Amino acid sequence: MPDARSTAVALAKRLTDEGHIAYFAGGCVRDRLLGKAPKDYDIATSAIPEEVIRIFPGANEVGAHFGVVIAKSHGHHVEIATFRTDGSYRDGRRPETVSFSSPEEDSQRRDFTINGLFENPQTGEVIDFVGGKADLDACVLRAIGDPAARFSEDSLRLMRAVRFAVTLGFEIEPATWAAMCGHAAGLARISPERIRDEFSRMIVLPKRARALELLVDSGLIHHFLPEVLELIGCDQPPEWHPEGDVFTHTKIMLTMLADDAPLELCLAVLLHDIAKPPTRTLDGDRIRFSGHDALGATMAEEILRRMRYPNDVIESVSFMVSRHMQFMNVQQMRVAKLKRFMAVPTFPMELELHRVDCASSNGFTENLEFVKAKQVEFAAEPLIPSPLVTGRDLISLGLQPGPVFRDLLESVQTEQLEGRLTGREQALAWVKERI
Ligand code: ATP
Ligand code: MG
Repeated sequence: MPDARSTAVALAKRLTDEGHIAYFAGGCVRDRLLGKAPKDYDIATSAIPEEVIRIFPGANEVGAHFGVVIAKSHGHHVEIATFRTDGSYRDGRRPETVSFSSPEEDSQRRDFTINGLFENPQTGEVIDFVGGKADLDACVLRAIGDPAARFSEDSLRLMRAVRFAVTLGFEIEPATWAAMCGHAAGLARISPERIRDEFSRMIVLPKRARALELLVDSGLIHHFLPEVLELIGCDQPPEWHPEGDVFTHTKIMLTMLADDAPLELCLAVLLHDIAKPPTRTLDGDRIRFSGHDALGATMAEEILRRMRYPNDVIESVSFMVSRHMQFMNVQQMRVAKLKRFMAVPTFPMELELHRVDCASSNGFTENLEFVKAKQVEFAAEPLIPSPLVTGRDLISLGLQPGPVFRDLLESVQTEQLEGRLTGREQALAWVKERI
């Protein structure tokens, strides 16, 4: 099957065969010049949408008034958009009108110079009206035109700027950066869902700690996750946290995660100590954060709900935050308790959170090593094996379902997890003795 690029080249050729201009545009040109595989191909064309649909009869009009049509070919989706000029933006999100225009004008409406390049699909020639090639070579992210105007037109560009700078490892050009800082408040006009999507994409990047820094330094984070700002200057006992305040600690942890750490883990790391500021007390000259794990779980839930994360993400992150201090007790836990602690689906992520929690602060590894040794020791059978005795057995023994019933089943499981009950007959005898 033809790959995405040759599919897009063929689609563009059908447009040029009909006498239209058809260029690759935006991210796919940028990524090719960077030697990266583009996520998808976008074609910009002089053909108006009706003409595009005539040439590609199966194509979908996704935003006909924006001039965007999606053509499908060989399992690839290619966006074909008519060259256009955006009219005025009154709401900070979307132009009120668009009019079809020239390639040069089309490049001017795009966000950053590195995203404003075109490429002739047939020859590979790059067409640059915005100085994007020079900025790509210099690793600079620069708004096209007047940065202040561009960010006030569309405030989502504030988040996109951070994401592109971090994804590509580019510096943000000073006037672009100044405009971002000056227009950060515009983020209030963007829906939580769109902010969340951008934020999720940057917090999972290998350089996620830089994303956090840029969000903080620009003031952007104030508009969607202000709780993180409280971590700055929240000092901690130096004997446990020689690295510094809670913000520094959190940031170091983010750098220590694997490059491909899952979203839930990145969010749990970011939020694990979110309740340290509100729980901080002084006991003599000793700093304490009693209950920061439980309050942190509640705060994480509120924050992620406000940001419109799906329930499964909210539940996992909040659960991980609620348990992050329990790693201190693993060596004292009874076997049954430890097995139950380890048997949850989030446990591998929790172990990683614990690893970076210690590695970024006091360097302790004892509890981590203990759990890892237990994982090996317990590996032969499931942590929670199938029950020796079921509710049905208890009913046959004449018991009524209820709290006692549940306690009894749990006690049997405890005995089983600790290795004191190993067979069904033995377990039934144990139960009979107790009722
Ligand atoms: P990615 O790899 O994230 O897809 P991309 O550059 O392809 O990067 P898209 O969001 O797919 O980004 O958008 C495609 C192109 O459309 C961009 O390269 C840019 O030229 C233009 N664009 C997208 N969003 C905006 C925006 N908010 N303001 C101005 N131009 C935009
Ligand atoms: Mg794209």
